[in-house]
Amino acid sequence: MLGIDAHSFIIISAAFGLLCAFLFFAVRVGFPKNIGGLAQWGWGCLLMVVGAVGFTTRGQLPVLFSSYLPNLFIPAGVIFMHYSLSLFGGLASSKRLLALLCIAALGLAWVTFVVDDYRGRVIIVSGLLTVCFAACGMTIYRYRVRRFPEWFTCSIYAATACVMGTRFLSVLLYDGTLTLENDTSAIHDIYFTSFPFSLVAMSLGFLMMANRELQSRLESQALHDPMSGAYRRDALLEMLQREIAASRRHGRPMSILMMDLDNFKAINDTHGHLVGDKVIVHFAAEATQLLRTQDVIGRFGGEEFVVLLPQTDLHAALATAERICSRIAKSNPTELPFYTVSIGAASLDRSDLDTLSLLDAADKALYAAKRAGKNRVVAA
Ligand code: GH3
Ligand code: MG
Ligand code: MG
Repeated sequence: MLGIDAHSFIIISAAFGLLCAFLFFAVRVGFPKNIGGLAQWGWGCLLMVVGAVGFTTRGQLPVLFSSYLPNLFIPAGVIFMHYSLSLFGGLASSKRLLALLCIAALGLAWVTFVVDDYRGRVIIVSGLLTVCFAACGMTIYRYRVRRFPEWFTCSIYAATACVMGTRFLSVLLYDGTLTLENDTSAIHDIYFTSFPFSLVAMSLGFLMMANRELQSRLESQALHDPMSGAYRRDALLEMLQREIAASRRHGRPMSILMMDLDNFKAINDTHGHLVGDKVIVHFAAEATQLLRTQDVIGRFGGEEFVVLLPQTDLHAALATAERICSRIAKSNPTELPFYTVSIGAASLDRSDLDTLSLLDAADKALYAAKRAGKNRVVAA
């Protein structure tokens, strides 16, 4: 209808694919190994490039190289993209698309070598592509976190699957003899012209996803103590400051707990530092289990932790502290020595405290708990 030159768009697709592959092979070096799928994406793009280049040899090379293999390389490239999206999202990769590719390869062999059926080829390839693109979109939709880059990429896949699906249906329902020469419908033109741009948009979307993931992992590393997984001191102080201001503004209570493991020097001396480290990790995990999602635990120093309890009065804070204290005294992991914790609790509803004086109040309560014999909770 538009009279577009499909050949030119095949060459543009190959060039764009090559650029995307280059981009992914180049940037993957800067990403940590645990952000997976970048190299596979590059290979997927390269497969499509090989397919597109194959199509340009029509009339010069045998149909095996100018039609049959290129028709399979394009969906194979999308299947690589799907594999790459599964790796990235930490999802199990499914073999169903590969099985579908094998079935399509048999059907395609029939309509290429046994009967020369152009319409049959278009139906098989566009049908297969519809399923592959939809599967990519579904994979992103199954991710645990979906931020803007995920929504963007998912939408591109959905739109591409719609174009492929419309092409599939239009050819399936076409009555008449469809040939390469008379296949000039609007959907044919949209299919060819949109493909290179879809490929670039998907690649940019996936790059945004990888970039965003890297950013959030770095942010998380900057905020958390790698050993215990609790927040670092600076991060917790900042959150404490913000929470105190918010609690004041809204006139709601908030409390903190200051917790220090008892006789930790003796644990280190008797069992060694490595066991001491395991005790710290064990304590952080046990305490975290007893907290609500809005509570925040931070490692203040060696074996000293602070818990921030938003919207919690002293009474409720003491109950939480007691739960932690008794859980630790009762927990008896075989590979760790017995240990206990002392906790000082302080609340903002008590008086007009600021960050430092609230921490100081909790610290004094903790000191009182230590003097009173340890393994106990004392309120400021
Ligand atoms: P108390 O009951 O009065 O708290 O006695 P304590 O022995 O626990 O005394 P304190 O809290 O002062 O001891 C802290 C010890 O924790 C000193 C230090 O060697 C040890 N420590 C600090 N950071 C780490 C760490 O990351 N790993 C290990 N294994 N030990 C640490
Ligand atoms: Mg201690
Ligand atoms: Mg200490």
